[in-house]
Amino acid sequence: MNFRTIVLIASVASVGTFAQNGAQPDWSKVEQETMQHYQVVLRLDTRNPPGNEHLVVDYLKPLFDKEGIPAQSFASDPNRSNFVARLKGNGKKRPLLIIGHSDVVTVDAAKWKFPPFSATRDGGYVYGRGTIDDKDNLTASLMTMLLLKRLNVPLDRDVIFLSEAGEEGSTGVGIDYMVREHFADIDAEYCLAEGGGVTRINGEVKYATVQTLEKIPRGIELVAHGISGHGSIPLKSNAIVHLASAVGRIGEWRPEIRFNETTGTYFRRLAAISPPEVAKVYRDVLSTDPKVRAAADDWLFENEPRHSSMLRTSVSPNIFTGGYRSNVIPSEAKATLDVRALPDEDPAKFLEQVRRIVNDPAVEVRFASQNARPAGKEARLDSEPFKALEAAATRIYNAPTLPTMSTGATDMAQLRAKGMQCFGIGPATDMEDGPKGFGAHSDQERLLESELHRFVRFNWEVVTDLARAK
Ligand SMILES: [Zn+2]
Repeated sequence: MNFRTIVLIASVASVGTFAQNGAQPDWSKVEQETMQHYQVVLRLDTRNPPGNEHLVVDYLKPLFDKEGIPAQSFASDPNRSNFVARLKGNGKKRPLLIIGHSDVVTVDAAKWKFPPFSATRDGGYVYGRGTIDDKDNLTASLMTMLLLKRLNVPLDRDVIFLSEAGEEGSTGVGIDYMVREHFADIDAEYCLAEGGGVTRINGEVKYATVQTLEKIPRGIELVAHGISGHGSIPLKSNAIVHLASAVGRIGEWRPEIRFNETTGTYFRRLAAISPPEVAKVYRDVLSTDPKVRAAADDWLFENEPRHSSMLRTSVSPNIFTGGYRSNVIPSEAKATLDVRALPDEDPAKFLEQVRRIVNDPAVEVRFASQNARPAGKEARLDSEPFKALEAAATRIYNAPTLPTMSTGATDMAQLRAKGMQCFGIGPATDMEDGPKGFGAHSDQERLLESELHRFVRFNWEVVTDLARAK
């Protein structure tokens, strides 16, 4: 008897009681199948570049066909396909979109104890590129779709599954293409994607995070113009000197602190579960007393720079170029600032502020290029999905939920810009694993098997909570 038959029998037996308490999957069988799909997709080499995400689609398509779930692939480049499957609901509510991206970042194979596309199981972990970014979300969403179909769960809304190409730096074949050319196929009221997670410290779950907002990259360039000349005769207009002073002033500057619903709630909830000394810092930074706030801000900048960045539009000078030989004074020097704007920041006004800080007519201040990501609205904390996520985190992880604004960008930006409320989720990982080099994009990557399974369950409970007919 194969796995599918067992599930079908189990589902037939329990279908009648679904309306009351919901049919439950046979979790031990689900775990076997989860691990099987997870390992298969991890073994598909979809490192980007070049991507080759069609490998994942080639695996998914027959799987969905066999289950009788309507599905279709969409591609601007045949090697880089996206894949959309839909379970129909009764139309009472607008759809729910669940997303996993199928590409992964590149690898330096020499740094891996187990080959990066081997999906080796060892000591309770699965090792491989993509284990936590993002073939975990991909697998959990896949399993949720299969279970909804097999258990024949009646739905108040369509549930749409998207396996998305190009998230790691080539959104043109992925989310941008889907939003531009096939938005009707993924249009939804809510979406769930990567970007959150559950934090364990010393093996114990501390809190869950749900990404409800993200900062917007808005690079700025400083270009100093001067007079060129012979290096033996120093000039007051030396472009490198002007640029260096401008960059120095920018480096000293910390733009004003501003909270939104997400970050305010985040720091309040984090304070509530942190040791007293650091809890005081999180409370102080929310203070309306400028002195109290500034001291907390200083501490965060030095000790928890990610939290410092969450407080404001951040500016980091990351490229500095000028000059080409030692005896020539160059006429131009250029610095590139990585600016991560708070979503409500007015770009033109911010550029003016940068000009005032630079305060040098010899230094031109301009936006670096077109913004790669549009600004969108914060997902609401009083919404149905956030409440469902919180409730599931309490049930499954016995943990409080912190809404987060990520400092980096994700593909949810494009969907939020279209009005979708998006929530970033993820499995539990050990906080100690990042510094050990096992995090997303690290030299190695791994996920605890038990946490993969717990995440599938979390995904299933949240999706059924949001979509099941009531
Ligand atoms: Zn990712």
